[in-house]
Amino acid sequence: MIWNSSRWSASVFKKDHRRVLAIVQDAADLDVARKALYHYVTERQYEIYFDEPEHSGFEMTVARDCARVLRAVLARNSDAGVGFSVTQALWDLARDVERPDLSQAFFAELSHLFRGLNGTPEGIEPDSSIQAAVSGREAAQVRSRELDSIWEDIEEAMDRYESGLDPDAMKRRDMRRRQVQEAMGATDQEWRDWRWHVRNIIEDQDRLAAVTTLREYERVAVEQAVHAKLPFGITPYYASLMDDEPEFGRDRAIRAQVIPPVSYVQGMAEHADRRAGAFDFMLEADTSPADLITRRYPAIAILKPFNTCPQICVYCQRNWEIERAMAPGAMASKADIEKALNWIREHPAIREVLVTGGDPLAMGDGPLERILKKLADIPHVEIIRIGTRTPVTLPMRVTPDLARMIGSFREPGVRDVCLVTHVEHVSEVTPEFVAAVDRLKRRGLSVYNQLVFTFHVSRRFESAALRQLLRKCGVEPYYTFAPKGKDETEDYRVPIARIMQEQQEEARLLPGMRRTDAPVFNVPGLGKNHLRAAQNRDVISILADGSRVYEFHPWEKNIVERDSYIGQDVPILTYLERLAAIGEDPAEYSSIWYYY
Ligand code: SF4
Repeated sequence: MIWNSSRWSASVFKKDHRRVLAIVQDAADLDVARKALYHYVTERQYEIYFDEPEHSGFEMTVARDCARVLRAVLARNSDAGVGFSVTQALWDLARDVERPDLSQAFFAELSHLFRGLNGTPEGIEPDSSIQAAVSGREAAQVRSRELDSIWEDIEEAMDRYESGLDPDAMKRRDMRRRQVQEAMGATDQEWRDWRWHVRNIIEDQDRLAAVTTLREYERVAVEQAVHAKLPFGITPYYASLMDDEPEFGRDRAIRAQVIPPVSYVQGMAEHADRRAGAFDFMLEADTSPADLITRRYPAIAILKPFNTCPQICVYCQRNWEIERAMAPGAMASKADIEKALNWIREHPAIREVLVTGGDPLAMGDGPLERILKKLADIPHVEIIRIGTRTPVTLPMRVTPDLARMIGSFREPGVRDVCLVTHVEHVSEVTPEFVAAVDRLKRRGLSVYNQLVFTFHVSRRFESAALRQLLRKCGVEPYYTFAPKGKDETEDYRVPIARIMQEQQEEARLLPGMRRTDAPVFNVPGLGKNHLRAAQNRDVISILADGSRVYEFHPWEKNIVERDSYIGQDVPILTYLERLAAIGEDPAEYSSIWYYY
């Protein structure tokens, strides 16, 4: 199929879906139209299931899913909840009322839904393989050859992404490291010392331009970010992972981690005087029962003793409270830490403590050791988890002494200590990262990874390649997070449908030990909504710009009644257009429309 985003329009929709519009046209008012459409959807599902034997099992499944979504989208409650009515839009289209607000992305969504409902999902090829009439060993051999061929395709897809362990990348980066060292006047010994990197964090466009090639829009964005006093900082080590030839796109994910897009800078600058109110998406202020503590679940609490990082991720959830990279004063006072520890002591339900921040490994060994010791002395704390990105941004921070010290708090059968890191892309996996992880593992510490599934790491098999490589390094994939619905980080967002597609069509093809992660969407105030279970959410509307509106049900919905959360996704068509702009073929992603 040739992909052409402009083919979704009101006129094409009217031509392709006459029957739907005729139902609306015949209705006396909007509620009658709503009811008639609801019956039509249910009847079509029945017909596909019982009266039209030509449909495959797959088409029946798609029809079932589309019927479910359409019924929710047509509901009066949905209109009231989101302030937009798909039924009204269909009513207007049936009567040729001008609706300039309805975008191509809106028609693309509706068109896919109605085609799916009718057992003709668009863009999905029917199975053309000839099933051999064999059984037993012969059948197994036929299947085995088929599986070989599938795996070849998977490897070919993953090989598109150059890892930091690839010999070419290592050679190139060795040169880059020498360039950066020379530009910054660092000796080899200094380069190996994490403190030197912390003292020399790159915090403005001129210093960044001195160590790598910056495109004009990147220079402007960094300049504006610095001017607006937004948190910005890159470790010299991480800067050495950037290419001098950004046009090749090999370091796209790396740059996107730290160089903000102009839209982000403008969004943040607009609310510079009230960041906590504007950007605290997770409502941390409402889930903090004591200073430095966050609690969203029964048995785990977050402890945040150190409120900064050696390097700032653009999409950081805590962009509203982190002032700058390694900001002086980021360490909480001894008295505040003691109060937070007291809160944990007084709450025996807390069996696990996530020490995060900021990045706790960016503290000196002494302060970290004192906190870990006090946590280890609390009898009900069974697991201490340390959230850190330093193995990626500052791997030399993971010294043998640090690994030994952290590992010393493990007491098998009594208490475990583990680390959760945050690798985004295979290009971040370098020999230095591997060595840092190995130092931790040798001390009996498990290392997990949390991936934020941003636009920049969302191409076909891009995150599958990462899972595969991480597992070889002894890092277990833990969570794949949908980027948060923060307006200022819109450029990083990916439709939930893409995450589901990735899980089903890419991650699913890897052996089980390499796909141990769970896809989740973090809901303000409520915490993780597990996306793998479709009953945890519903699509309740399609807005004029083509974005889906989801109702996320709280994680404890089966235990107590709690309010759900309504959140707007990013339009699928917009996402596909962005992929096309970086050289992807959107046709390769066409089944995305049928994930909800
Ligand atoms: S490492 Fe975590 S806390 Fe630090 S800037 Fe990145 S996302 Fe934020």
